[in-house]
Amino acid sequence: MSKQIKAIRGMHDLLPEDAPLWRFLEDGVRAVLDSYAYQEMRLPVVEMTALFKRAIGDVTDIVEKEMYSFADRNGDSLTLRPEGTAGCVRACLENGLLHNQTQRVWYKGPMFRHERPQKGRYRQFYQIGVETFGLEGPDIDLETLLICQRIWRTLGLDHLQLQINSLGDAEERAAYRQLLQAYLRQHQGRLDEDSQRRLETNPLRVLDSKNPEMTELIAAAPVLMDHLGAASRAHFDQLCQGLEANGIAYQINPRLVRGLDYYNRTVYEWVTDRLGAQGTVCAGGRYDGLVQQLGGRATPAVGFAMGSERLITLLQEQGSGGTELSPHLYMVLVGEAADGTGMALAERLRDRLPWLRLQVNCAGGSFKSQFKRADKSGARYALILGDDEWAAGRLALKPLREAGEQRSLNQVELVEFLTGLLAPD
Ligand code: ATP
Ligand code: MG
Repeated sequence: MSKQIKAIRGMHDLLPEDAPLWRFLEDGVRAVLDSYAYQEMRLPVVEMTALFKRAIGDVTDIVEKEMYSFADRNGDSLTLRPEGTAGCVRACLENGLLHNQTQRVWYKGPMFRHERPQKGRYRQFYQIGVETFGLEGPDIDLETLLICQRIWRTLGLDHLQLQINSLGDAEERAAYRQLLQAYLRQHQGRLDEDSQRRLETNPLRVLDSKNPEMTELIAAAPVLMDHLGAASRAHFDQLCQGLEANGIAYQINPRLVRGLDYYNRTVYEWVTDRLGAQGTVCAGGRYDGLVQQLGGRATPAVGFAMGSERLITLLQEQGSGGTELSPHLYMVLVGEAADGTGMALAERLRDRLPWLRLQVNCAGGSFKSQFKRADKSGARYALILGDDEWAAGRLALKPLREAGEQRSLNQVELVEFLTGLLAPD
């Protein structure tokens, strides 16, 4: 046998055993987003490299060292999307969705970043992203946070903590940048290598350093919140009032900056202490400059992205069961007559009961071997069609997971019985 080719480091297979929890997560999120009337989009996984450079910023971790970029056959530089916002804005612009109208949209799918793989950090990972366009007030910021809160409630996650901050507008941020730079220069000797580099290119990112040796220096740095103009301050205060009025607990974290450059005013993260170093499960904020930066007319925007793997780990840890996916019925077919009519009968059952999960035995076998397969399939019942049943125009239904008699039913009785027993609400 030749050597097997393995998956790429940091890129994982989701196996059938993972599917119930992923469905639980994604169905739950979709139901919540439907209830706020957000509309789904499906976007390409590959975009022009220039899009991410322009949107995310040249001196961010993502663009500097995490992108999977490659030359297309005709020489264009393309990139596997590291995040969803840039592509979403591109698509909305290109399809005229932002022209004199507001939009509230969402999408989900894989993202790619060449990071050091570890728990909660992968090279292919899934995000669910929400974006809103054309709304500038703090009410829409609040709505995105209400959506998050309702998603946590729907999933049964009750220990996520909200941290918020304001980055001010572009001018306030530029003024603060100088102030911060001056402070960091005074203490240049204490900066680690990464921070030395960021001091010149992107000093706000120094605040985001995860190096414990930098903690003290960062704690004493000037705080952007103290340098907000009146309009930014009012926006932030109104958002805080809205959170309080809706019973969402929050913590103001003046060191919270985001890894991507396009944010302004509101930024937030939902964090947990149950995932070790990778404790942020959702991050977002306002990015009023991005649409213009990508060639559109100035359009306010706010959104967030959740990391699905981290949420799945939380759900696993609290023992959430997920969506039931094993078959209701496994159809056992023995004898020539049954073999010839079984599939057609199963089709009729699926016509009548669209919610039914029915697996039909394939490749023959004795009663004994088919019952073994029925058991292994996880089915609740075996539906048996043998020569005797066929001759009598009936079927036998035998419980596999619970005590109970085998019963004999004709097709009409079977449909009625299954409806009463198994039909979803
Ligand atoms: P981190 O600080 O953990 O690197 P980030 O600021 O780079 O996160 P965002 O770009 O804001 O993350 O992405 C939003 C969410 O996507 C994160 O909060 C996290 O839950 C998830 N996420 C980001 N990168 C990864 C990754 N490499 N693997 C798994 N999930 C990720
Ligand atoms: Mg990151």
